Amino acid sequence: MPREEMERIRFEKLKRQLKRSYRKSIFYKRKFNEIRAEPEDIRTWEDFRQLPIFMTKEDERASEAESREKKGFPFGMHCLVPPQKVTVIRTTSGTTGTPTFGYSYTKRDYERLKECLARVYWLASLRPGDRVLNCFPALGGIHSSGGFWSGALVRMGVVPLEVGAEAGPERALQFAMLTKPTALLGSPSFAQSLIEISTKVTGKEIRDLGIRKLLLSGEPGIEMPTIRRRIEEDFGGKWHVWWALYGEACAASCPGEEYQGMHEVASEFSIHSEDIVDPVTKEPVKVEERAIGETVLTALDREGLSFIKYATGDVIQLLTKPCPCGYPGPGYRFKIVGRVEDMLVIEGVRVFPISLRQVISSFSPRLTGAMRIVLSEKPPQITPPLRIKAEHGPGMEDKDLKNLKREVEAKIQTTCGITPEVELAPPESLSRSIWKTSMFERKYEG
Ligand SMILES: [Zn+2]
Repeated sequence: MPREEMERIRFEKLKRQLKRSYRKSIFYKRKFNEIRAEPEDIRTWEDFRQLPIFMTKEDERASEAESREKKGFPFGMHCLVPPQKVTVIRTTSGTTGTPTFGYSYTKRDYERLKECLARVYWLASLRPGDRVLNCFPALGGIHSSGGFWSGALVRMGVVPLEVGAEAGPERALQFAMLTKPTALLGSPSFAQSLIEISTKVTGKEIRDLGIRKLLLSGEPGIEMPTIRRRIEEDFGGKWHVWWALYGEACAASCPGEEYQGMHEVASEFSIHSEDIVDPVTKEPVKVEERAIGETVLTALDREGLSFIKYATGDVIQLLTKPCPCGYPGPGYRFKIVGRVEDMLVIEGVRVFPISLRQVISSFSPRLTGAMRIVLSEKPPQITPPLRIKAEHGPGMEDKDLKNLKREVEAKIQTTCGITPEVELAPPESLSRSIWKTSMFERKYEG
């Protein structure tokens, strides 16, 4: 479908969703009242873009608390249907506070979610007959593998093999020996731990297990060519990154050789990559090639929990030019830049950890790629120099280390525009996590 036609469809759906939300939820009624407007006042795309943020994580929590208190259910004042109609209940992991219920759906919403995820999986090369080792956390999280991501697999004729990250890489490998998966669903860190212990557990190199389709998400990695190459070579497969924020903003990377960002695969169900705002001021950022901003989610077709102008906290870089892979359709592409709360500001320059990781990973094998940003004050404002610990490779002499430190510092300075103080640490001295490795070492209180 040409882009213009899709825009027209989206705008019709948007108007309907705005009206429904205004009529059926006190939450959105209040939001429109605050700006002295009604849904009918939104007549153009520009009108919509100029609307302020309606919901943040805190607003969502408050809305849920209010509905618990006043209505006796947890889905929030932004839920547009009676609670009995919400039949699939999932929460976020709650690692940063009380879990929220954004991943909860009516029957209709859940069917739509499965359609969107099937498109993600298809672009990421999964086909009927594939068997997917699902190593996302199984317990009470957004990535709950308990039928959640797997519902879409079953629907498209792919076999989910439920392991769960909690089982650990050893059990996952033992299970893989029995079930012969062709694909892996998990995080880059988890994939790396499978590589590391495969020979010990199975007596085989990981590539001899036949897992060729790697759907790895949840932390950065694909953006770093050295990390990506190592994982792909070790498995003898292809890495696809994917994303499905609140089950709405569905996207996946294509089979092209170079990583080209993620293609939107369900533009008719949500607006996210084209509604980006400055992470600090929340002012709209102009939609153009390579524009960077926090993505603001508006679900266009949610029957139950309605999300309109939701500031997601995820910062992306928008890619508007056609992809060399020739993927059709009206959707844009984007790359993940980082979380708003991970942004650092050093002498007025904004830096996301991923840019630092890219520099560090470009020094492989002299640096292993493992690193920490040492913070002695609460971000975003950081007094220079920014302290970075990076692991050096094995067998290096003092003189080499001194030169390497200077080289890394110079490259960070030219690439990121900030002054770093790099400390080189011995190989294997920085801890790795099985699921998600933290980028920060926090030395401040609170
Ligand atoms: Zn592509």
